[in-house]
Amino acid sequence: MKAIAAPSSREPRPKGAAALVQLDGLAPGERVALRAGELPGGLEHEELVIQRGERSGALMAIAIHSTRLGPALGGLRLWTYAAHDHAVEDVLRLAEAMTYKAAAAGLDLGGGKGVICAPGSELPTGEQRRAVLLDFGDLVESLGGRYITAEDVGTSAEDMLVIAERTEHVTGRPVEAGGAGDPSPYTAIGVEAAMRAACAHGLGTPVLADLRIVIVGVGHVGERLARSLAARGAKLTLSDIAPRGREIAEELGAGWVDPDEAMTTPCEVLAPCAVGGVINPEVVDRLRCRVICGAANNQLATDAMGERLARRRIVYAPDFIANAGGLIACYRELKGYDADRARMLALGIEDVMGDVLRSAARRGITPVQAARELAEARLQQSEQ
Ligand code: NAD
Repeated sequence: MKAIAAPSSREPRPKGAAALVQLDGLAPGERVALRAGELPGGLEHEELVIQRGERSGALMAIAIHSTRLGPALGGLRLWTYAAHDHAVEDVLRLAEAMTYKAAAAGLDLGGGKGVICAPGSELPTGEQRRAVLLDFGDLVESLGGRYITAEDVGTSAEDMLVIAERTEHVTGRPVEAGGAGDPSPYTAIGVEAAMRAACAHGLGTPVLADLRIVIVGVGHVGERLARSLAARGAKLTLSDIAPRGREIAEELGAGWVDPDEAMTTPCEVLAPCAVGGVINPEVVDRLRCRVICGAANNQLATDAMGERLARRRIVYAPDFIANAGGLIACYRELKGYDADRARMLALGIEDVMGDVLRSAARRGITPVQAARELAEARLQQSEQ
């Protein structure tokens, strides 16, 4: 089997996968399937299927990057994409990242992802939403278990229940229905565990009480992280573009900073929990933190940012290790869900992160390089 090349964080993806097919010309129920070797630009994915939903007419796609370690698990993103091509680029990029997240977390899972282009200018509701989700369920089912879906941006545990009407290859269903429910609590547990390891490495203590911690993005993960850190006595500052973030700050007695200034606020720990690309050339030399550890995917705008952080002696906790708690909960759902076991596994991220940071320091490489090597080693072991 061919070795998989590690993805760099946000390098431009080769264009053209979507251009191979006339997406706008697909009739309801019609599909295009591309196998390994048929994708342009040297993409290593095993499979890409694009279909127009029979009931909804919505364009949807599933990318399977790798099933080397197990079935490809990755969330379903329902989004108002400006163009169909963007959705296809997104699903390919995100599926690849899932391979590395699962491998580094030690899970017997491959990497995959699903996307649906919302049929209108807003996310669908009511009967239209149901039709979109049932169509996606049929698409998942047609892959025979090689891809397993879960919730992601734009979808919820209740949506997974609708998908489950058409396929059993779904995780993240509500707890009352035997699922793991919203994965965010486990993601937050994992981020805090990773933060302890990063602080032990960079500040000489895993104790988060009394540290100045700035959380940028107080959504599903950020709010839980904030509540837990506040209970531990951390000196919190919160930031969000939505007014609810300020309400949470007031309730917790935390400080507040406007999003424009959040990344450069002086602190021991900066926790990006909103969007990707936030460590970029505009802010990297103005950061005034000693540790960066948050939930957001793809925090580094480019690989060079990892090197710049290392030069500034800022400890960066690789995001795909820190935010694996939600994936771990989905994995446990497949094996027979047990909340305590999922929690214990998410707490184990502290050890993984500690190993990655020590390995990076010992070998003079960045933490991201060390994390990728950990994932690659597991993928290569599976070849032997
Ligand atoms: P969310 O949408 O619930 O919360 C994101 C929050 O960030 C929102 O409150 C939003 O208003 C805020 N925000 C957006 N842009 C901002 C900006 N420029 N400045 C400040 N705040 C901003 O998302 P979430 O589920 O909490 O996930 C947060 C991040 O973690 C995302 O990048 C997501 O991909 C990643 N992640 C989440 C999970 C999970 O289990 N939810 C798992 C892995 C990774």
